[in-house]
Amino acid sequence: MYIKLFCPAKVNLFLEVLDKREDMYHNLDTVMQSVNLCDTVCVDVCQNDGAACNKITVRCDSDKVPDGKENIAYRAAELFLSSFDIRGYNIDITIEKKIPVQAGLAGGSADCAGVLTALERLFELKKEHERILTLAATLGADVPFCMKGGCAHAGGKGEKLSSLPSITPDYTFLVAKAGMGVSTGEAYSYMDGPRNKKSSEALVSHLRTGNISAMCFELYNAFERVVCPRRPMVELAKEVMNSSGALGSLMSGSGPSVFGIFAVTDDAEAAHEQLIKLGYDAHVCFALM
Ligand code: ATP
Repeated sequence: MYIKLFCPAKVNLFLEVLDKREDMYHNLDTVMQSVNLCDTVCVDVCQNDGAACNKITVRCDSDKVPDGKENIAYRAAELFLSSFDIRGYNIDITIEKKIPVQAGLAGGSADCAGVLTALERLFELKKEHERILTLAATLGADVPFCMKGGCAHAGGKGEKLSSLPSITPDYTFLVAKAGMGVSTGEAYSYMDGPRNKKSSEALVSHLRTGNISAMCFELYNAFERVVCPRRPMVELAKEVMNSSGALGSLMSGSGPSVFGIFAVTDDAEAAHEQLIKLGYDAHVCFALM
């Protein structure tokens, strides 16, 4: 029995880093939107006659992502099986990577969410969905959002989700990544000093009323001021998108990916062409419901 799922990337429409918690994570005020830039995750489950343990294999087509135990998808399967005391199965996971790696697009979290969703269906554990969401949060702060998809505000370390209306496919997204980002640890290390913190309230209110042009004025990522001066390709991607007619552009997560939102698809296509020529890994896509 197997299930094949498309696992979408997310972009942060808003990201403010709040106080540092006792568990060393930071509280966040963030709004995430999934886009149809997807990895494909195939999970094949078969009973392993007579065996008391499970055998999990993970293969990924990208040389930037490890196979086997080092892959975050392995941990998701292992955690699922041990939490529900499931034994004697072979679980084969195959990942086709399309989401740029280490890009602030939650690629690993998307694959984890795909594995949990596939196993929930294959083992018919839909009634345990809330418990599976709790497991998801232990794998990574973005994993619960990736299981839910669409658009949501997230508080806490990213796991306290409230649904919002998604941006409709009337708008086109362009997502572009070049080079390596600043490490997530380094990016967070600049966040604890005194500074004025922004709230997602205005952006959320424009999303609720569907005023996307106004929402684009409220796009904000606290990490930009740390990453942009150190990674000129981030600023350049924003410039290309803005000068091609984007309603707004922003770095996603701790970078280095940048996304733009366009009212005119041809404008997004023109910016896409320019960014590809400049060496970016760029993708035209849409928001998902
Ligand atoms: P986030 O936006 O959640 O911070 P990210 O886009 O910055 O995520 P990922 O693409 O999830 O980062 O990858 C982070 C690291 O995890 C990489 O070094 C990668 O080698 C490793 N990794 C392990 N498994 C996976 C996977 N299935 N997909 C992507 N990366 C994986």
